[in-house]
Amino acid sequence: MKTFNVPIIYRSPLITAIKNRRKQQDRMKKDFTPTVLDFGPLKILLARHFGFCYGVENAIEIAFKTVEANPGKRIFLLSEMIHNPHVNNDLLEKGVQFIMDTAGTQLVPWESLTPEDIVIIPAFGTTLEIEEKLSSLGIAPLQYNTTCPFVERVWNKAEQIGKQSYSVIVHGKPGHEETRATFSHSRSNTPTVVVKDIKEAQLLATFITGEKNPEEFYILFKGQYSPGFDVINDLQRVGVVNQTTMLATETQAIADYIKNVIMDRYSLDASNVSERFADTRDTLCYATNDNQSAVTGLLEESADLAIVVGGYNSSNTSHLVELCEVKLPTYFISSEEKLVNAEEVHHWDFHHKQELHSRAFLPEKEQVTIMLTSGASCPDAMVEAVIRRLLSFYKLEDKMEEVAATFE
Ligand code: SF4
Repeated sequence: MKTFNVPIIYRSPLITAIKNRRKQQDRMKKDFTPTVLDFGPLKILLARHFGFCYGVENAIEIAFKTVEANPGKRIFLLSEMIHNPHVNNDLLEKGVQFIMDTAGTQLVPWESLTPEDIVIIPAFGTTLEIEEKLSSLGIAPLQYNTTCPFVERVWNKAEQIGKQSYSVIVHGKPGHEETRATFSHSRSNTPTVVVKDIKEAQLLATFITGEKNPEEFYILFKGQYSPGFDVINDLQRVGVVNQTTMLATETQAIADYIKNVIMDRYSLDASNVSERFADTRDTLCYATNDNQSAVTGLLEESADLAIVVGGYNSSNTSHLVELCEVKLPTYFISSEEKLVNAEEVHHWDFHHKQELHSRAFLPEKEQVTIMLTSGASCPDAMVEAVIRRLLSFYKLEDKMEEVAATFE
């Protein structure tokens, strides 16, 4: 896979050495067991896959190169480039401005943009409506485009099945930039509806089976269906695609569920289900799969707690947390600074969207084992900083170089 030139401050020599070693030993990526960093009183189980994915590195490389190559020009990002506050702040410090926040609230009025300005499209991509808006302002919308190719692959799949007269069900968070972009691209080709989870998929299924009054659809799915969506006709032949960072197992469960409902409704079997249900399995992003499978591998071990590092608004990171918290106490932190001391931690409760303050998060025992992973938009340097911070609580800083040497 292509390698990218991302600022050195985001890299960690230790994590790079570990990742390279694991890659050499497991080129086919079949081994999801964690890397064990044994510091004596503290043992860290590091996930097999974590951190910057292809799309994030691509976006960072393009954004920083654009800033460097255009001194004196006004440079805008449509919204946060990726969901990591540190990377976004670094760009802000270089003078880059965000046109919208992640919720789509306008921060810079469109009218203030001129054809001389540079506008970078983030890794999530953007809607066709925003592309048109930029064109109308004299700005080539795709000149500085960091849309991840794996997101574009979803759009292409939606277009392909749309052209075969399937409607598209998008499994995604309706307000997320990527889902808004995928919804926009998909609905330009075919009727499209967004479901945020399996519960909404089950609700949608009641309109496929005819259990619910069609009129209710327009209330229950308000804001989540394409204009002119005909709930009676447009749910007879469908395919499911996803926001690439959703829980892969949930997307699969939704696709399997809808497929079964369609099979029952139209008395189809495996040989002819494709008449009404499109196969879209190849749209799952490799990084989401790898990072989530690595957490599944991690959870086969035993540990006292898990720490997941990433931006609080990062969808893929919250799904790693969701997997971990089923099994053990899990702390979702955005940086090492959230580990205040050996007693206290500030961590994000993504269910209730609030930061919590917990005490006594490290158990008192001879050897504490911590599972550690990070989201696809979290720099490896941040993960190393978390390891160093934890070591400092045990006065084990000196052990770092000793353990690092074993990976050289
Ligand atoms: S998580 Fe996947 S789709 Fe999203 S930016 Fe990374 S590689 Fe691209």
